[in-house]
Amino acid sequence: MTIYCNGKMCSRAEATVSVFDHGLLYGDGVFEGIRFYNGRVFKCDEHLQRLHESAHSIMLHLPCPLPELKALLLDTIRRNDLRDGYVRLVVTRGEGNLGLNPFTCATPGLIIIADRIALYPPALYQQGMAIVTVATQRTGAEAVPPRVKSLNYLNNILAKIEAINAGCEEAVMLNRFGFVAECTGDNIFIVKHGVLLTPPVSMGALQGITRDTVLELARQRGYPVREDTLTRHDLFCAEECFLTGTAAEVIPVTKIDGRVIGSGAPGPVMHQLREDFLKLTQTTGTPIYA
Ligand code: PMP
Repeated sequence: MTIYCNGKMCSRAEATVSVFDHGLLYGDGVFEGIRFYNGRVFKCDEHLQRLHESAHSIMLHLPCPLPELKALLLDTIRRNDLRDGYVRLVVTRGEGNLGLNPFTCATPGLIIIADRIALYPPALYQQGMAIVTVATQRTGAEAVPPRVKSLNYLNNILAKIEAINAGCEEAVMLNRFGFVAECTGDNIFIVKHGVLLTPPVSMGALQGITRDTVLELARQRGYPVREDTLTRHDLFCAEECFLTGTAAEVIPVTKIDGRVIGSGAPGPVMHQLREDFLKLTQTTGTPIYA
């Protein structure tokens, strides 16, 4: 495996960072997870733009302009001779001293890892997942902003631990007002009275690239779509529920906190949107080997 690490292409063993990097010491940095399918990077510019906005929001300068970053990303995939997989872009605050002050860190770190991807078990896509609501709340915009895809994932990890302890793969996180925000690594959708609903990002969700793509595909199909506040009751009484994310793609949910959702089987809206999504991943994107 060839990894881009702070200015050089290196082997996995050589790809190491300083113990004084604030990305390690404080989770100070931002990242992106991007999929490539069939030799093309899916929604590459959208991911790079989100990385730029995450960095800008936390006053972190990206180590190079976006076109250069894109070239490095494509080069890393090529050097690993991959056509389908996942690429992780990590920008750290860089090496500083032991204090919190990010401005002691002169040069941001940049790591790019291209790999194959571990997916949820295929059976979950057929039967649907069971998920649970957890006690760990999604931080609000007044704390670590959920729209910043930062290296500080402890909030989501605590929620993930609760899900795993409950025998589930994903957790629904509520915001401090009790409204549904998102899952630990996925956005959430429901269908109610034939309308596709998802919480607005202001409820405490990451503006998922898959979420935005699915909203667009649903509009193209003519489905009524609304971003609206949702409670657990809305989830329990939905006709369908599904999650979206770069790794998960579109995955049905058939049980939440023990309540069966809709018919108990993955629904027709999810099936249609999943099919449209998968078709788009196979036919669009930035060519890697042009
Ligand atoms: N929410 C969180 C907290 C995430 O980490 C992710 C994965 N990046 C998502 C939602 C889904 O976003 P995307 O579709 O851009 O992968």
